[in-house]
Amino acid sequence: MSAQRCPELDELFDAVVAGSGDALEHALGCEACSAVLEEHRQMEKDLYRVVDPLPPPDFVQSVMTRVAEAPVPLRRELTAGFGILGGSAALAGLVLARDPQVLDRVGLAFARVLVDGQAFVPRLLSALVTVWDAAGFVGIAACSTLLFGSLFGLKRLSGEPTISEA
Ligand SMILES: [Zn+2]
Repeated sequence: MSAQRCPELDELFDAVVAGSGDALEHALGCEACSAVLEEHRQMEKDLYRVVDPLPPPDFVQSVMTRVAEAPVPLRRELTAGFGILGGSAALAGLVLARDPQVLDRVGLAFARVLVDGQAFVPRLLSALVTVWDAAGFVGIAACSTLLFGSLFGLKRLSGEPTISEA
């Protein structure tokens, strides 16, 4: 059989795929064709080895766990920060719109405290009294709301991640 001429390569590989045929019969007795088939077999083995392995079964679970443990993304922090800043500016605008002189009086009171640093506590108390007189209940309520709103926002920022670990 090896005396036959060697088949074309596509003929040989067709016979290999089919599992029988004259070309395969020839290759069993022909050193050159056996070498070609062996080389092909080795190449297939190498290609199978370099194919990307499947990810481990717990891949998604481990990724989601790491995402949940990751720090809050910068974009979310910026959004919350600008939200708090906008809220503060809106409240300050409301207070100023209600009584434009408030800023002057508060600034004067604090300037006085800073200029004569002696008797700081009595001055601070007097400044607080001035603020109370100037801004009154609405101003104090607005400042309290702003303070607690900011604290609540900070608490939410530092709170638990919202992505579930399931
Ligand atoms: Zn041959």
